[in-house]
Amino acid sequence: MNIKKTKEGYKIESSSRKGNWYEVDPEKPWCDCPAYKFRELKKHGVCKHIKAVREYIEKTQQKTLTKEQKKADDVLAFIESNGGEADAIELIEKFGEERVDKLIHSGEIIERAGKIKILK
Ligand SMILES: [Zn+2]
Repeated sequence: MNIKKTKEGYKIESSSRKGNWYEVDPEKPWCDCPAYKFRELKKHGVCKHIKAVREYIEKTQQKTLTKEQKKADDVLAFIESNGGEADAIELIEKFGEERVDKLIHSGEIIERAGKIKILK
């Protein structure tokens, strides 16, 4: 199913009527398709659109997490290959300050006198 993120929430295209988009709020939950308004709402159920949007959100979140982890792994792998220690300036130039700072804050690496070490 086609899903779009909008300012207000999500829109999903009807699978039976192409070009017809329903507004979905996966939290509330709410969908403005007839199945939800006339059936699911009364029995506190969810329609297939709400289910699809929830799945979509879960998948996107997982992807972001994996990306973040990969970014962290790159930095750590570089330090490891450098003998477990790297120059702070060099590391920041190579990977960006934000990524290095994040690892310091999460306690994975430590900076001392301009050198970065992996905390084990
Ligand atoms: Zn629906």
